[in-house]
Amino acid sequence: MTSVPGIFASGDCRSGSTWQIASAVGEGAITALKIRDYLRSH
Ligand SMILES: Cc1cc2nc3c(=O)[nH]c(=O)nc-3n(C[C@H](O)[C@H](O)[C@H](O)COP(=O)(O)OP(=O)(O)OC[C@H]3O[C@@H](n4cnc5c(N)ncnc54)[C@H](O)[C@@H]3O)c2cc1C
Repeated sequence: MTSVPGIFASGDCRSGSTWQIASAVGEGAITALKIRDYLRSH
């Protein structure tokens, strides 16, 4: 999650990204799970 609650970032737009497809895909999956957790807690 970014510094703005409820706003998530993954892939190339994220600071520190490796700029590789495999990383972006993996981060996307993790981010989806984090969003699910966030929505469940709200
Ligand atoms: C020329 C080139 C060659 C590459 N070669 C390789 C390679 O060989 N191997 C490798 O692993 N990686 C390679 N990469 C890197 C790889 O393409 C990226 O790391 C990967 O695509 C990042 O995925 P992403 O989903 O984070 O971003 P992106 O694939 O850039 O997706 C972002 C999406 O957001 C959309 N978007 C942007 N602004 C908005 C907005 N305001 N509203 C709605 N949608 C918006 C864009 O249209 C785009 O569809 C290459 C990149 C380039 C440019």
